[in-house]
Amino acid sequence: MAALAEALELGVDALQQAIGVLRAHAASRASGTPRAKDEALPDPAELPVGVADRLLLAIHEEALGRPLEVTLECDACGELTTLVLSQDAVGEHWPRSAWCAPGVGAREPSYLDLAAARGDAGALLERCSIGTGATLEDIGRIEGSLCGPLVSSCIECGDPIFDDRDVVPLVLASLAHIGAELDYQVHVLAATYGWDLASIETLPDARRRRLVDLAAGMAP
Ligand SMILES: [Zn+2]
Repeated sequence: MAALAEALELGVDALQQAIGVLRAHAASRASGTPRAKDEALPDPAELPVGVADRLLLAIHEEALGRPLEVTLECDACGELTTLVLSQDAVGEHWPRSAWCAPGVGAREPSYLDLAAARGDAGALLERCSIGTGATLEDIGRIEGSLCGPLVSSCIECGDPIFDDRDVVPLVLASLAHIGAELDYQVHVLAATYGWDLASIETLPDARRRRLVDLAAGMAP
């Protein structure tokens, strides 16, 4: 949680923040597993966007103890419907690549590809092309990112409701509360038990949350 909060503060734009969150998570995972000392850690920013988006949802669920939720308003009756973007709800990612002709095709872009292309479609095509001759349409067909319309129906009147959303900013906005929540937890535990910052931050997230609940319950 502390590493995620730091990654969010360092990232300059949404994509860089998302890359920071993925890398902080991978590093905290790797610190608990024995590895050969010259074994390089795979960079999660090189994962296809469809895999990386789903990983962000999983990290959100792990860090906050609940899946990402999006609330949409019904155009017909004004009622609010909350969609839960759990890993089950968004479904699995299927690895895809497009072959246009023998030796010509494209692979699914990664966050690193998107960051390097800086919004330039031509640059993205060049990075993700295999051979020459693939088009942006080919890349559009194979990218499995979780952005685009969220479709559901209103809980009140049953009318279809939809919204154009991208999972990355939604996850980042929700994770942005992490820094504030961590500060609160550190404050409560330091004030209650007199522990130092490092000891509190290294507690497992779930255990720290339980201790804060206990400490808050003891307050007069
Ligand atoms: Zn409605």
